[in-house]
Amino acid sequence: MMEIVENVYVVKPHNPTEPGCCVYIVDTKSKDGLVLIDVGLYIEPIQVIEKEGFNLKDIKHCLITHGHIDHFGACHELKKYNADIKFYAHEQDADKIEQKRPNQSLNPFFANYEYEPIKLARKFKADNEILKIGQLEFKCLHIPGHTSGSVAYLLETGNKRLLFAGDLPGIAINISDGNLDDYLKSMQKLTAIEIDILCEGHEDIIKPAEKVNKFIKGYMKFNENLNHIVLENPYHTKILLDLALISYELEFFETALDFCNYLLELDPDNSSGSQLLKKIKEHDPPKFEFVKRLIKENFSKEK
Ligand SMILES: [Zn+2]
Repeated sequence: MMEIVENVYVVKPHNPTEPGCCVYIVDTKSKDGLVLIDVGLYIEPIQVIEKEGFNLKDIKHCLITHGHIDHFGACHELKKYNADIKFYAHEQDADKIEQKRPNQSLNPFFANYEYEPIKLARKFKADNEILKIGQLEFKCLHIPGHTSGSVAYLLETGNKRLLFAGDLPGIAINISDGNLDDYLKSMQKLTAIEIDILCEGHEDIIKPAEKVNKFIKGYMKFNENLNHIVLENPYHTKILLDLALISYELEFFETALDFCNYLLELDPDNSSGSQLLKKIKEHDPPKFEFVKRLIKENFSKEK
């Protein structure tokens, strides 16, 4: 657990080998207690707050960024500590959170996960709705693209503008609930806001504002290229190299490794790919085969 600005903490930092998203907590210093942003898949990582002098029963609000289970799976566990906890999400992702779901995830991490549905206290409908908790105001920005009901929560506190953005860098592919055009529009909207600190779902904290903007623009390019690879031409080595490079620059090393390995499988003599692979390996990222699986599951289907 680490303080980001006064009264705002990252509870569960990014760990590529562990399922579940990054989790953040805001102490309202009022009778409204603690606000959690996303909860992840399991309650155990959240329990660290008790070592820091906080109480799990004081978590009175949980803001869900979107309807992917790695962000809200453990909601029902929170209810064991506080039966009156209030959950919030966008109405377009509400069904995924409020219904007992069939096993629908692409990710084998979650294959056998048992989910108990919860009820949302409020479902956001419009863009820029304000959620007032204690003295704090969370502005709920609707940022469809990764899912149709993705939300980012903007909070101004301690002279800083923080954005809790869930899977802002997550994939936005024109399959299932994703939509690239929506994603690009949503990201364009975010680049128009000066965000001092980006608290995001799988890569921790990005700051200052200049770096946040670069990060968002990098992921716009990433997702444009990814759509091309997954849906149009999985053998386009130039784009694969670009994807590996963008991921490397964004310090998303496990993804960079994945693209680079796939590139070198298609084109073992690709010297730029070989050089990049050496640089990626210095960071010792875990190995996934996510890209190949994504292509296998979607390329022929879309044709
Ligand atoms: Zn997601």
